[in-house]
Amino acid sequence: MLKYIFVVGGVMSGVGKGVAAASIGKILQSRGFEVTAIKIDPYVNVDAGTMNPTEHGEVFVLDDGMECDQDMGNYERFLDCDLTRANYMTTGSVYQAVINRERNLGYGGKFVSVVPYIPLEVIDRIDKAATKSKAQVVITEIGGTVGEYENILFLEAIRILKSKKPADVLLVLVSFLPTLGAGGTELKTKPTQHAVRAINSVGLHPDIILARAHIPIDEKRREKIAFHCSIPEENVISAPDISSIYEVPVNFEKDNLSGVILKKLNLKPRGKNMRGWNRLVASIRRAKKPVKIGIVGKYFDAGDFILEDSYISVIEAVKHATYFFKRKPEFHWLNADEFTHSNNLKKLSEYQGIVIPGGFGSRGVEGKIAAIRYLREKKIPFLGLCYGMQLAIVEYSRSMLGYKDANTTEINPKTKHPVIDILPEQKKNLTEKNFGGTMRLGAYPAVLKKGTIAQSAYKEHLISERHRHRYEVNSAYVEKLEKKGIVFSGFSPDRRLMEIMELPKLKHPFFVGTQFHPEFKSRPLKPHPLFREFIKAAINKRI
Ligand code: GLN
Repeated sequence: MLKYIFVVGGVMSGVGKGVAAASIGKILQSRGFEVTAIKIDPYVNVDAGTMNPTEHGEVFVLDDGMECDQDMGNYERFLDCDLTRANYMTTGSVYQAVINRERNLGYGGKFVSVVPYIPLEVIDRIDKAATKSKAQVVITEIGGTVGEYENILFLEAIRILKSKKPADVLLVLVSFLPTLGAGGTELKTKPTQHAVRAINSVGLHPDIILARAHIPIDEKRREKIAFHCSIPEENVISAPDISSIYEVPVNFEKDNLSGVILKKLNLKPRGKNMRGWNRLVASIRRAKKPVKIGIVGKYFDAGDFILEDSYISVIEAVKHATYFFKRKPEFHWLNADEFTHSNNLKKLSEYQGIVIPGGFGSRGVEGKIAAIRYLREKKIPFLGLCYGMQLAIVEYSRSMLGYKDANTTEINPKTKHPVIDILPEQKKNLTEKNFGGTMRLGAYPAVLKKGTIAQSAYKEHLISERHRHRYEVNSAYVEKLEKKGIVFSGFSPDRRLMEIMELPKLKHPFFVGTQFHPEFKSRPLKPHPLFREFIKAAINKRI
């Protein structure tokens, strides 16, 4: 019998609802249940692919090519599973499906009103996702906060489901408790009480309240929330700020969250195993020796919060690899534009490794190219992800092949040396302005060349990695680049597309670029092989 857990937010957003949902999944998994997680985003965009990362954070990509919200990355990382497009929906995608069905006479001539047909479509999708992943418990997180106009139809879906299966549906409210004044320690519960009223007004009542606050809640506040919000005290769970998100499941268990959930859903616990995870958390806490990593990017002017959200999977992948070596990651944000001034380049030597992550468009490109040249010449560990790899090819072509105007046609369509170029099948999408979901997206296989850094990192012949790009290394230049020292250590099985480039170890301690995004597949307990080797080289670099 499938059990449904819904996670909704109260008071305000951005308090870690995604991590809370993922952590609930983790603790239930540790108690022996098959779990899957779904994200619902209440906006009209059909997927997250057309959104600017500074608006909404990183666009996460699944194996099947779905471009979705960064929370899906949290679910995959916490649950160590590969999710599919069945696990993600937006208001836009739900309406699109209902409208298409109506156009195809799928409703048999009926009058298709918003209620119940939109909520029924939502419930149907949740059931399908659960069946597909053989889950016993499905956790669904609804974006935004209760009381907003946008998520009302999703709350209606919960109401309908709960009235059909009252014993199988559980509602978790993640609510923020503010304090007054600087350094204040008195947590205010009133906004939470209002959030519960807002939920009541749509015919629902929370079963569990996660009290998000800067500090743990005291007994008085726990009693108060329980009393005013009509839930048992043991169902009020303290969720204070902590230094690592990976500690959240451990923290929830201090208040016996899994016990409370299992009891409420009438599920029999099957032991408990959090050993691997607890060990990770302990080593994160113990790690003291820093590894200084610089990230050269362009999504920098919208404030730190947004910045970290724009590169979240890269950050997490660096963390996983660093924790593997029992070190502490130290991130430095470097604005690509500043490296167009050669005086600033020597700054790069202060770091043990530099990541140049993915990106689009011309801003910051020349700065990144200048930085890559410096990293190559000064033998500073470099990991280029997607755009980072493409620009490394541009740099090498300019410096080593002597093609001064070498470029990607994304930046200069008229260059004489289009070393990075668009595939013919992609050209059509651009001219027809067919942007949504049309890049090379999702998992593609790559063959690894023996005796390379990549092959010895993966220890495999055939790998699968996730993509999100339109441009590729131009095959007309592959041989020329190889003659001048570039090693293409990974390529598509038909050898048409270059997937990984590197410089041999003899020439550089670590200079690797990937056309794909390895960061999407890194997991806390299974760091990605390329990030692991990158961090290893970084640790070996003296500063
Ligand atoms: N802009 C590049 C392309 O479309 C790289 C994309 C990326 O870094 N994700 O090919």
